[in-house]
Amino acid sequence: MNRDTSRSLYDRALSVLPGGVNSSVRAAPQPYPTFVERGEGGHVIDADGNRYIDWVQGLGPLLLGHDMPESVQAAVQSRASEGPMYGMPTELEVEHAEFVCRHVPSVEMIRFVNSGTEATVSAVRLARGVTGRNKIVVMQGGYHGAQENTLVEGDTDHPKPSSAGIPGSFAEHTIPIPFNDPDAARRAFEEHGDDIAAVLVEPVQANMGIAHPLEGYHETLEELCDDYGSLLIFDEVITGFRVGGLQCAQGKLGVDPDITTFGKIIGGGFPVGAIGGKTEYIEQFSPTGDVFQAGTFSGHPVTMAAGLETLQFCAENDVYDHVNELGRQIRAGLTDILADHAPEYTVVGTDSIFKVVFTRSDDPPQDDCCANGCRQDSSCSRFDSCPKRGTDVKKAETERYARLFRPEMVEQGVLVSQNQFEANFVSYGHTEDDVEETLEAYKEAL
Ligand code: PLP
Repeated sequence: MNRDTSRSLYDRALSVLPGGVNSSVRAAPQPYPTFVERGEGGHVIDADGNRYIDWVQGLGPLLLGHDMPESVQAAVQSRASEGPMYGMPTELEVEHAEFVCRHVPSVEMIRFVNSGTEATVSAVRLARGVTGRNKIVVMQGGYHGAQENTLVEGDTDHPKPSSAGIPGSFAEHTIPIPFNDPDAARRAFEEHGDDIAAVLVEPVQANMGIAHPLEGYHETLEELCDDYGSLLIFDEVITGFRVGGLQCAQGKLGVDPDITTFGKIIGGGFPVGAIGGKTEYIEQFSPTGDVFQAGTFSGHPVTMAAGLETLQFCAENDVYDHVNELGRQIRAGLTDILADHAPEYTVVGTDSIFKVVFTRSDDPPQDDCCANGCRQDSSCSRFDSCPKRGTDVKKAETERYARLFRPEMVEQGVLVSQNQFEANFVSYGHTEDDVEETLEAYKEAL
């Protein structure tokens, strides 16, 4: 496969962009990233004219794939041609907010922002403003965007910034605990409960997972938050409008968070974030409340048009049936392939998300419990070694993934997640043929 143009573009990029990219993960592919020319359905065509089946899908936002349905395209084009933005409200923002409030059980009111990071920053500020407390509980290995409060590693007693440039005093207010460990959550609350403003958690760990909550885990977090007067924040930046369909993961799991952060799909492929939740909390944002929150581009008309039309398209078509069925097929197919080629590895995922975690060879082989993606089922014989939290993915064979497996998949014409930590996303543009071809590529590459 000729990839000379990608190679020389990366060479040029290294001189003017740090690491040759505008977001770190894009530089992960070895030996250099694929520069994209355009997308088509579930595929992308690179700068050299090579076509790939694309499971990156913009890192999650492209639920409908690369081709916008006519209604989305028309809305985007007409908004852009009527002047891209105004700094004044539009009807679209109201309609989009009404749509989200109608479908997501815990959301009564919402503030749109421009990225998932901005959403989690604002949600943390809101929780602190509402409770008058400083501490935030997060999950070890979780990711909530490039922000000071959550780029923290370590444990309850020794939190420290996970990036240069963050004062240690930020980390002092963050309590990292292991996901799916209710006792660790109880201990954190026993020790710091009166200072905890919120627990910030993905309903299903999708960024560094994919790990399902063990039965009762979120209920424990809910109870602890209720008992101590803290808020439960669900980060649905990835899972929102992907896991559980229009009700999001919280609807599927039957959990009622106080605040929810969104991003990715609700912008229909354009920059977006949002903070939704109970009116009593969301109204604490300025101008009604004291928690300052603002943004020149927030509620951008083109984004609102793309997001709203995308969600309306999902409501009126078989989008979730299609993507979830392909997700099931690919997880089932991968399970069979692993049984022959790499029995120590683990298929994970749910709905339209999938991944193979390169769990290490001293882990016991899979059995039937994992047939459609490991569900962290405590009755499974492999429960002790299956990945139950983001940090478990860190212990996997990430180098083998990056250096051997992924480059071989590229050769086979398939783009999977740019590193072992990110997930793969099925879109409405994907077909059963794409699934078949991808499974063949896995067979070759594993
Ligand atoms: N929260 C989660 C769970 C994410 O996966 C991400 C990004 O992938 C973010 C927040 C940050 O979103 P953004 O990259 O739009 O700032």
